[in-house]
Amino acid sequence: MGGLEQLREWVEESSNIVFFGGAGVSTESGIPDFRSVDGLYNQQYDYPPETIISRSFYEKNPEEFYRFYKERMVFTGAKPNAAHVVLAKWEEEGKLCAVVTQNIDGLHQAAGSREVMELHGSIHRNYCSRCRRFYSLEDIMAMDGVPRCECGGIIKPDVVLYEEGLDQGILQKAVSYIRHADMLIIGGTSLVVYPAAGLVNYYQGHRLVIVNKTVTPVDNQADLVVTGKIGEVFSKLMEG
Ligand code: NAD
Repeated sequence: MGGLEQLREWVEESSNIVFFGGAGVSTESGIPDFRSVDGLYNQQYDYPPETIISRSFYEKNPEEFYRFYKERMVFTGAKPNAAHVVLAKWEEEGKLCAVVTQNIDGLHQAAGSREVMELHGSIHRNYCSRCRRFYSLEDIMAMDGVPRCECGGIIKPDVVLYEEGLDQGILQKAVSYIRHADMLIIGGTSLVVYPAAGLVNYYQGHRLVIVNKTVTPVDNQADLVVTGKIGEVFSKLMEG
């Protein structure tokens, strides 16, 4: 695996790493990504996933939204893999200051990471659209069909649907961390979903590292590209 020694050396020297990741960080935990050949976009549904998980579809057809969401986007048994575990360890050791993620699965926190910017929200937070009461993931998974609050309102997951904007506070925090990072590691993301993908442009240093299974649009801007599965790459980093 090319580039591993260089990455190990840079990690040893760093004290302000930011990690920016996407769905590929959790595929080795058994959660499918969107754009790999076996990802969600290549599975058969009545509508493309991008349509189903849009705000307008959710409002028009909450039954179908929730059928897809509960079957294909929530994986209650998923456990953190080596990538999540190593990132949490680096934070504990004072090497890493933040994880910025497009994922909604909560696996970074499950591994012990504390400073996690969830750009697209989390399946673990759900709120009644009428009275704002909080519900856990377990609460909504235990309800058949469209989950409803005691007040009668529909419960909506706190995830950012297509057509919805990102939380500006979280985005600004992510920008600030990336701007001040001594090393930015980007992993498991196709970097095609905006505005999240534009975050890379805020990095000002000379240690931009990409760890991905396939090529990304920023490989040519990177100082180091490690091609491979991120869980395997991070396990190998720990072996040395
Ligand atoms: P994506 O599906 O567009 O791209 C995934 C990328 O990761 C691809 O480039 C793929 O080659 C790579 N990849 C897959 N497995 C990998 C591995 N083991 N190691 C290294 N690279 C790997 O994902 P995205 O860029 O995150 O964008 C999709 C959107 O879908 C995001 O906004 C995210 O919110 C959402 N999503 C989240 C989850 C989750 O929470 N786990 C799962 C699916 C989709």
